[in-house]
Amino acid sequence: MLEPEVEARPWDEQLALDDESYRAQLRYLLERSPFYRAKLAGADPDGGLAELATLPLTQKDELRASRTRENPIGEHLCAERSQLVRIYSTSGTTGTPSYVPLTAGDLDNWVTGSARSYAASGIAAGQRIVSTYDAGPFVAGAALASFERIGLSHIPVGTGHTARLMRAVELLRPEAVVLTPSYAAHLVEWAAERDFDLRSSSVERVLVAGEPGGGEPGFREQLESGWGARVTEAMGIGDIGVSLWGECEEQDGMHLGARGFVHPELIEPESGQALPLEDGAAGELVLTHLRHRAAPLLRFRTRDHVRLRMSPCPCGRTGPRVRCVGRTDEMLIVRGVNVFPSAVREVVSSFAPRVSGYVLVRPRAGGVKQEPPLPVAVELARGAEADDELADAIRARVREVLVVQTAVELVAWGSLQRSEYKSKLLER
Ligand SMILES: [Zn+2]
Repeated sequence: MLEPEVEARPWDEQLALDDESYRAQLRYLLERSPFYRAKLAGADPDGGLAELATLPLTQKDELRASRTRENPIGEHLCAERSQLVRIYSTSGTTGTPSYVPLTAGDLDNWVTGSARSYAASGIAAGQRIVSTYDAGPFVAGAALASFERIGLSHIPVGTGHTARLMRAVELLRPEAVVLTPSYAAHLVEWAAERDFDLRSSSVERVLVAGEPGGGEPGFREQLESGWGARVTEAMGIGDIGVSLWGECEEQDGMHLGARGFVHPELIEPESGQALPLEDGAAGELVLTHLRHRAAPLLRFRTRDHVRLRMSPCPCGRTGPRVRCVGRTDEMLIVRGVNVFPSAVREVVSSFAPRVSGYVLVRPRAGGVKQEPPLPVAVELARGAEADDELADAIRARVREVLVVQTAVELVAWGSLQRSEYKSKLLER
């Protein structure tokens, strides 16, 4: 652990410290944030974390709606122009990009949390890491600073330079690479086509982030066997912080590296009702800044659906761990059952090596609600022939695990799109 006195602190003690931070944060918001002053009219600034769930949730659209030409960041901006040391852009995958301002203290907290999250993977000072993020204007850029904080030797390569990346792996012999799970999967195929012996490379750890998948057992197993390395995942959310969560070597969900800076909650996505943080609980992750200055957010809906683990982790880190099962904007409802395309991929991956692991869910209707059967294209492994028995077995397994009827179409190897960044699992 980078900071054992923090990361292994009993969770109750952490919550007591967070309660104090939260009260100060709430007072700061009521004093400095026009957005929250209006939203929290009548709120008691001494309510404490115990009463957090009585306050309203914050949606990305509300922040967007508060932006003007005079204030392009939004009404939630609390700091003076001179205090902002950096202004990131979100990638704008859902709507127009927004700006994420940071004070020097905010940026330092981001790097601290991110460093704890990445260090949880087991990577240690003195080792080499190749990064593939074209982080430039995006918040992922702050994660790169966390590699220096850990004491790693950082080798930036960027996305879309596969030959250069593999040359760096071959010549510079890094212990780790950091990329999206989609790109990690693409590289396994790239290496196989060129007789590049990825399994015998120096890489012992593949750190994945940027999209769900690294924690799906079937998909993880494919990546691990392809790389001959251990795969752990990390996750952040642009408006709140970079790599807030990071998985340890137990591979049983991501620890909250940003503990002390961010407070997590779980809600039932349709009703917005808060759910208890219990082992096995599932819902949408909601995050509250505890010590943020530039543009702190309260009860921000991340749109990430997670499963929670609260049991003690053998690594010694305390507090909740999460596994992301999908994004709200990818969720479909088939006869009342919530279905995430990533969950379909997880089930399909268990049919490897007969399938490649690539799937594409192709809903017939627009919108969220779908009538069964839900069409799913499943890509075969290289050289594998389509056979009805396999399609039937996949359909039956998906029905058993996800309680949803699908129409499985087996497609030839190479026919679904590969990605050097994030995979498309849903075709609208
Ligand atoms: Zn652990």
